[in-house]
Amino acid sequence: MGQLDGKVAFITGAARGQGRAHAATLAEHGADIVAVDTEGSLASMNYDLATRDDLEATAKEVESHGRRCSTITADVRDTDAIGSAVQQALDDFGRIDILVANAGIHSMAPLHEMGDEQWQDVIDTNLTGVFKTLRAVAPTMIEQKSGAVVLTASINGLEGGQNYIHYCAAKHGVLGVMRSAALELGPHRIRVNAVCPGVIDTPMTNYQDVYDMMNGGPGGDRSSLEEGATGYGILDGQGALPAQVISDAVLWLVSDQAYAVTGQAIPVDSGHLVQPG
Ligand code: NAD
Repeated sequence: MGQLDGKVAFITGAARGQGRAHAATLAEHGADIVAVDTEGSLASMNYDLATRDDLEATAKEVESHGRRCSTITADVRDTDAIGSAVQQALDDFGRIDILVANAGIHSMAPLHEMGDEQWQDVIDTNLTGVFKTLRAVAPTMIEQKSGAVVLTASINGLEGGQNYIHYCAAKHGVLGVMRSAALELGPHRIRVNAVCPGVIDTPMTNYQDVYDMMNGGPGGDRSSLEEGATGYGILDGQGALPAQVISDAVLWLVSDQAYAVTGQAIPVDSGHLVQPG
């Protein structure tokens, strides 16, 4: 018996990285999965979004745990597309018990050089996309009079960062969405929390701009990420963390063990945030 047996989890950004790990972990513990992602690239980003093959690979991982997986291509910025994805989830499974709003993008520029499009792409995806996903799923959970929601924020929802002001603004906004939604949805027995990952080893941290940031200037590479992340927290020997550590936090937050936990932002950051400024 898995602790999530009979539950259905709707996960955005599920094709790779943390989203894929969340899908596999929740499936391992009994949940059927609705895996949502999009494809392609944005002009304001210096790395690509996931592919349809990535999404199918997530489905294979879910199915290896004996659970069902619906794969849906939908852009969280698109109200109609995310509404159709929720309808497809209900057609396929009849209910949605868990939402993990995890889809997100990253890009970098000094604030005085950041263009409108670069700002807007991150706000639209990382903040408005989270809101639109939650708004689309909430009526089902309200009708069911139960639900567990985890929004993926970041430690950049709790502190600033240099050269990605749009990302920090969006992630601070996600925590505002989380706290407000927890207040509104609590009377419907729906819990809403957020995870705040530190540096996680995924495609979002494995591209040149992040390598250069970690290097303190141009010429960074994969070893710059490892070295930069190692100095980041207070727990000795922890560099860029595997996505699984976030999945384990998500699993606890959506499980009945956390039945009294709502409105909380949970950092998983090797102790980064506790350091004196
Ligand atoms: P990732 O790039 O591997 O995964 C992000 C996924 O979101 C990709 O599959 C991408 O295709 C999808 N996506 C992007 N825009 C989308 C859209 N408009 N509609 C649907 N799907 C979309 O990176 P990740 O590290 O797994 O990121 C997951 C979440 O974790 C993001 O919200 C990110 O901001 C957050 N986060 C990451 C780190 C880190 O260090 N990697 C740290 C803190 C927070």
